[in-house]
Amino acid sequence: LDLRAEDIETLEELGAGNGGTVCKVVHQPTKTIMAKKTIYPQSLLDSPALINQIIVKTPVDQPSILTPQSSGEPGGSSRPSRSVSTNLVNKASPQKSLTPGSHTDVEPTKYTETPSSTFVRVHHQTMKQKVDPKLLVRRQIMREMQYMHDCDSRHIVSFYGAFMNDGDISMCMEYMDVGSLDRIYKKHGPVRQDVLRKIAFAVLDGLIYLYDCHRIIHRDVKPSNILVNSMGQIKICDFGVSGPLIDSIADTFVGTSYYMSPERILGSPYSVKSDVWSFGMTLLELAIGRFPLASEDGQSLAVFELLQRIVNEPMPTLSTDKHYTPELKEFISMCLLKDMELRPTPADLMQHHYLMVQEKVDLQQWAKDMM
Ligand code: ATP
Ligand code: MG
Repeated sequence: LDLRAEDIETLEELGAGNGGTVCKVVHQPTKTIMAKKTIYPQSLLDSPALINQIIVKTPVDQPSILTPQSSGEPGGSSRPSRSVSTNLVNKASPQKSLTPGSHTDVEPTKYTETPSSTFVRVHHQTMKQKVDPKLLVRRQIMREMQYMHDCDSRHIVSFYGAFMNDGDISMCMEYMDVGSLDRIYKKHGPVRQDVLRKIAFAVLDGLIYLYDCHRIIHRDVKPSNILVNSMGQIKICDFGVSGPLIDSIADTFVGTSYYMSPERILGSPYSVKSDVWSFGMTLLELAIGRFPLASEDGQSLAVFELLQRIVNEPMPTLSTDKHYTPELKEFISMCLLKDMELRPTPADLMQHHYLMVQEKVDLQQWAKDMM
């Protein structure tokens, strides 16, 4: 779909997260109902530290021209410098076209060159044509988002396209009319266990698909990123689009998440096993109907305390004295193994006996009850 801002009419706001807002919209030319997520990269891009890290990643032979103009932000230049070029994946697939007019003054960068030269080239363009580097970053993000078109799984929310409007980036995805699992459990209490098993299967299957077919690590598994529709389908959304730039932003800048694994907190790069941790935390939360890492009196913890608890203290487990099965308890505990080496991969988990139970569950009826 060739999406343009002027063709999209907003119907209602569905929610807002850390980096943006999600609205229910209609794409007028096709009358398609979609969910539009608008992210505001402005604040991110205004950070000299980010410019430092990302756009102006220095191939060693080009240091001076690639130095950012400003680095007024305290600490901005003292961040450990991760080399973007080591992150780059050479994606030689043809570039798909974006919204007409979205890159009129600069040729699209082709990923057929060596990784670092891609960045060098962006910089040459910046220098030559005095194009705002922030604009180039936005465009690069848009390009990388195009890869989401290739994701096609029944457990992944479909992607319609992305466009840029006044510096904001909007992406349109399948609208899931029952909403996200955090809303569901906050309204209706802990998720039924037969349904929970179906959710576990759907999320794992989605994660395996992303990784096996596209080498994408989700990076943000949590209840608000698992969506349900009235047909009873369960799909994951908001996965880390994989591209050199977005990878780099994510590894460097994506802030603290309550679902972060110990190794992530300690600074290692993402891996599929970090997704497994977040997945375990998510299942536990859905099973008990509250975020598992609260203080004794149920208050949410300060970020630092939370992080130190994840790294240093034993993780909560399900008590089997309630109606939880030992299989579920074991399944979650395996996801929450602090040692990444010992923690299973999504594919390993698929073989776990918790998921081997064949049971008919009327998910459509459940979804209707949750609406
Ligand atoms: P965070 O910003 O920390 O990731 P979040 O996932 O809640 O939190 P958003 O991704 O911006 O933030 O989503 C906001 C809300 O919009 C979600 O909680 C969800 O309820 C709703 N939402 C998101 N995508 C869709 C969709 N495709 N269909 C229906 N509702 C959606
Ligand atoms: Mg989300």
